[in-house]
Amino acid sequence: MNAHIEPTFRESVNMMFDKAINLMDISPGLASKIKVCNSTYTVRFGVKLRGDIHTFTGYRSVHSEHKEPVKGGIRFATSVNQDEVEALAALMTYKCALVEAPFGGSKGGLHIDPNEWEPDELEKITRRFAYELIKRDLIHPSQNVPAPDMGTGEREMAWIADQFRRMNTSEINADACVTGKPLNKGGIIGRVEATGRGVQYALQEFFRHADDVKTSGLSGSLNGKSVVVQGLGNVGYHAAHFLSTEDGCKITAVIERDGAVINDGGININDLQSHLQKTGGVKGFLDAEYTSNGSSILEKNCNILIPAAMEGVINLSNAKRIKANVIIEAANGPVTAGADEIINAAGTVIIPDMYANAGGVTVSYFEWVKNLSHIRFGRMQRRQQATSNHMLIEEMERLVGKPVSDSFKTKFFQGAGELELVRSGLEDTMCSAYQQMHKTWRSNDNIDSLRTAAYVLALTKVADSYRALGL
Ligand code: GLU
Repeated sequence: MNAHIEPTFRESVNMMFDKAINLMDISPGLASKIKVCNSTYTVRFGVKLRGDIHTFTGYRSVHSEHKEPVKGGIRFATSVNQDEVEALAALMTYKCALVEAPFGGSKGGLHIDPNEWEPDELEKITRRFAYELIKRDLIHPSQNVPAPDMGTGEREMAWIADQFRRMNTSEINADACVTGKPLNKGGIIGRVEATGRGVQYALQEFFRHADDVKTSGLSGSLNGKSVVVQGLGNVGYHAAHFLSTEDGCKITAVIERDGAVINDGGININDLQSHLQKTGGVKGFLDAEYTSNGSSILEKNCNILIPAAMEGVINLSNAKRIKANVIIEAANGPVTAGADEIINAAGTVIIPDMYANAGGVTVSYFEWVKNLSHIRFGRMQRRQQATSNHMLIEEMERLVGKPVSDSFKTKFFQGAGELELVRSGLEDTMCSAYQQMHKTWRSNDNIDSLRTAAYVLALTKVADSYRALGL
C-alpha cells in the first residue's frame, strides 16, 4: 500500500478544490479565502458518569460564512479529529452552494464511541456538548444550525433543541437551531429518509443522461442493475431499500463492520436490516454467503457501488481493483483524491459526495424554513387544491359524458401534503443540480469528471457571493 503518499481527508478535499480552481477565473487571493477553514473551536469538557469524571473532546468548524447561518451535521465517532471536521465543513460549503441551500459550511464532531454509553449517559454528554456550543453561538437559528451525521440522529437533535430552548427561553425561533429533529419536536416528514432518497433521485437522473450512462459502460435504466452497498446505516439502508423496492435494482452485497454478505440473486434489505438490528452485524444472515473480509467486497464486480459509511475507504491501496461502472458517494469523502484520478482514468463514473448525499441538507433546509414560518408545509393549500381538482374532474366528466377512473380520482383529489411537497422539492433539487453538473462536464474539455464539474459550479457560486460582499 502506498500509505505514505495518501493525503489526509482535508488535504484530499483541498486537492480536488485545487484541480477545479485551476480551471477557473478566480483571483489567487479569493481562491485561498474560499479554501481555508475560517475557524475551528475545540472544547474539552468533563461529565460525571459511573462515579467518575470523564473528559470528552468535541469540535465545531466553520468553513465559510459567505452565507449565514452555517450548516452541517454533528458526528459522534472515534474517528473524529480536527482534520476530519474541517474537511467535512468544507464539503458542506460546497454542497450547500451546489444545491442552492442558502447556508455557509460547518461541521461538528465529538470523539466518542456512542455504543459504549447508555442512552441517559449519552443524553448528559450531548446536552453538555450542546451547552458549550450554544453559549458561543455555535448552535443558533440564525448563525449555526447542526443536523444529524454519523452516530447521531433524531434523538440527539431533540436533546440539542431542548438544551437550546432551556438556555434561550424567549427565543421564538428556537426550533430552527437544529434540523433532523423528530416530527413531534419540530421536525419535517421525510428528513430521516432524505439522504437515501436523494441518492435514489441522483441515480434516476444519471440514467436519464444516455451519454453519461455510456461513459460508465452501462446501458438502459436502473432496472436490473447490480448494487453493492457499504454501510447499512440511515443513508445506506434507505438508498438500498428504495433502489431495490422501487427501481428494480438487485443488492448483491452489503458490507458492514463485521464483514460482508453476498447474494448475486439479490438481498432482501429489510430482512438484513432486522438481522443487523437484532445481532449487531451481518454475520449469520441466512439468505447470503458471508465473508469476514468486508473491504475486499468493494472490489466485487457490480454495476453500482454505494460507499455509505466512512471517508477514505476507496484509496490508493484498492482503487485499481474497483470494478463498478458507477460509484455514488453516499458518504462524505469515501474516495481519496489519488483514487479519484485512477478510477476516473479507468472509465468508472463517480457521482460525487457533495451532490450525491446533498438530499440530507436539502430537506434540512426545508425543515429550517418550516420552523421559521411556524407552519407545516401544505397546511393552507391542501384542501383548496383538492376542492379545485374535484371541480375540474366533475366538469370534465360532464363535458365528456364519461366517468374518470376511481384510481385516478383518488390520486388527483388528494392535494399535496408535507411529504409530497418535501419529495417534490428534493427531487427537483437533485435533478436540476445533476443537469447543471452534466452540462458543465460535457461543455468543457478540461473538466474531466462530474466531481470537477460540481466543484466548478459550487466555487463559482461561493466566489460570486464573496464578490457581492465586496471581497
Ligand atoms: N450531516 C449531513 C451532511 O453531511 C446533513 C447536514 C445537514 O442537514 O445540515 O450533509
